Amino acid sequence: MMLLTVNPAMLCTVKKGCLPHLTQPNQELLLWTCLFTKLNLFAALCVFQVSYRLFEDTGLFETFKIPVREFMNYFHALENGYRDIPYHNRIHATDVLHAVWYLTTQAVPGLPNLLTDHSSDSDSDSGLLNPSHPSHIGHTGFLVSKMSAVMEEGYGCLSGLIPSLELMALYVAAAMHDYDHPGRTNAFLVATSAPQAVLYNDRSVLENHHAASAWNLFMSRPEYNFLGNLEHVEFKRFRFLVIEAILATDLKKHFDFLAEFNAKVGDDGCSGIDWSNENDRLLVCQMCIKLADINGPLKHKDLHLQWTEGIVNEFYEQGDEESSLGLPISPFMDRSAPQLAKLQESFITHIVGPLCSSYDSAALMPGNWVDPADARRKEGEEEEEVGERETEEEEEDTAEEDESTSSESSRKSM
Ligand SMILES: [Zn+2]
Repeated sequence: MMLLTVNPAMLCTVKKGCLPHLTQPNQELLLWTCLFTKLNLFAALCVFQVSYRLFEDTGLFETFKIPVREFMNYFHALENGYRDIPYHNRIHATDVLHAVWYLTTQAVPGLPNLLTDHSSDSDSDSGLLNPSHPSHIGHTGFLVSKMSAVMEEGYGCLSGLIPSLELMALYVAAAMHDYDHPGRTNAFLVATSAPQAVLYNDRSVLENHHAASAWNLFMSRPEYNFLGNLEHVEFKRFRFLVIEAILATDLKKHFDFLAEFNAKVGDDGCSGIDWSNENDRLLVCQMCIKLADINGPLKHKDLHLQWTEGIVNEFYEQGDEESSLGLPISPFMDRSAPQLAKLQESFITHIVGPLCSSYDSAALMPGNWVDPADARRKEGEEEEEVGERETEEEEEDTAEEDESTSSESSRKSM
């Protein structure tokens, strides 16, 4: 399947100076799987355009007085730095960007909602500011998605708890996070003493490379500086947060992040996250981008299979190169001995599953409240349905048996 190997030149049809325009209506962005159900029709949907739409939706342009031309120049250049490879391409970057936006703006049952929970201008206990007060709609204030501005009682969203600068850092990190990915793993770059491995002392080689080269691109031309209206101290913090979020996507640190997060959240299902603590908020943002980065198994099966196809093709290309270099072929990368089911089983069981459970037990997952009585009733109905189906099947079997017996007996009687 070639759906994921899109030619970059074909993808970005928008010229510099034109405002990005999504072919999909806004409402489609509200679907977890919206953008990627037809990956081969992705031509008009890429990092550049989706970034623009999500910045517009959350009011980041106005909040940080971001000049649109510089923003477009930079994101256009960033997009062009993604290579035409089977998995870590611009579509994956857009997928991750959309996922962090989704996870931070959609309704989460039980999450505090500052717009209704804090009636005072500032809450000295939590250190949180009231975003509904105009003076606080600024760099330390909170933003909501225009597409889900009305939050029902009993729901909140992460963008109501994560200040706007940190939210913007998370979105920019998602757009940057696999910039100039060569389609090879950290282990391969280390094993072959690639220049990046030497430069970063074999540590988080790719993640350091993505962050450093995306920032290098940003600083390479004044016309890319869409952050010119940030205060110096804000810019420094923003840059720090973006780098921390990108470095968190190194799966080698997966279990460390998970352990730290689980220790904070606790086992009693009661989140120990202190939203007034910037380290706690950073950890939440890191978990959010990590979940967004490996969200494939959380999508529809056909979509998940397309991403799986992409990653194994990239793995096989590495396996081919390892073979041609006389190196042992890494696990799961030998195209002559595919182990797709084993790869996915292991990835979902050990990486994606525990991350989802942990994110969910912190009560951060968007969704809907379920009335326990309704849930029980539904469960009962389903059980009843299964029971009825089984009884029907049994009856059919019995009927068939009876028929065969009677036909046998009739045959016998003949
Ligand atoms: Zn990624």
